[in-house]
Amino acid sequence: MRDFTDDHSALALNTATLGHNLDGFGAGWSPEQVVDACAERGYGGIVFWTREIGERAVSIGERVRASGMEVTGLCRTPFLTGSQAGADDAVRASIDMAAGLGTTVLTIVTGGTEPDTKGLLDSQKRLAERIAAVADYAADRSVSLAIEPLNPMFGGNRTCVMTVRDALNVCNMVGAGNVGIAVDVYHVWWDTALPESLQAAKGLVLGYHLCDWLEETSDMLLDRGMMGDGVADLKALRAAVEDTGYRGLCEVEIFSAENWWKRPPETVLDTIVERFRTVC
Ligand code: ZN
Repeated sequence: MRDFTDDHSALALNTATLGHNLDGFGAGWSPEQVVDACAERGYGGIVFWTREIGERAVSIGERVRASGMEVTGLCRTPFLTGSQAGADDAVRASIDMAAGLGTTVLTIVTGGTEPDTKGLLDSQKRLAERIAAVADYAADRSVSLAIEPLNPMFGGNRTCVMTVRDALNVCNMVGAGNVGIAVDVYHVWWDTALPESLQAAKGLVLGYHLCDWLEETSDMLLDRGMMGDGVADLKALRAAVEDTGYRGLCEVEIFSAENWWKRPPETVLDTIVERFRTVC
């Protein structure tokens, strides 16, 4: 397992951590401000959200690289399943944006269960069909698609993939070389079968997302903890992820409307560096 004690070059910021991707939250920093503040602190990369990029993917990507970092990923495709599923054109547009940014990883939050179905299997089959329909388009643009399992509490309207095992099954159904899995502490920390599932997914992990699960969580979506403030076994989780061969960046993704989003971004970024070196 990599030693981050004196080296945080594997640290990436997911910009959701600064809050500005939701209306009314965060300090409202521009992508350029985020890039400069992360570069100053020695971050290795940044993960953006589509809404903050607009038509400027190429120039923002260039600025990140000129600052000595990489664009580690883009969040995310429209939903692919469920009643709020997006059109194929919108999915391809998110792939184009990832390519414009110069990142190789586009995250998929799947969307919920398909209308008029029960359980998950029909929806996972539909998900595999939709991913298969765009996998070549993404591969032609050097973009990989990372299926992110969500905590089962998001089942129904946001996800039909709740475990790494589910995500692996969908990867196998798709059968494309550029489709893999994103592992997020918030979504998998509870899963005691995770090490076995990850062993079966060697070489397929495309991203690792850091935060913590607070013992007392006040909001399912917007009360994630800073690493070290909660009950997730962060070192064990990273060990299991790295046992698959994963050596990519670790992105910090903290939705925290009542705590971290209210603090100055500089404080948040400094705290992340300190926690990354000590508890992750
Ligand atoms: Zn995530």
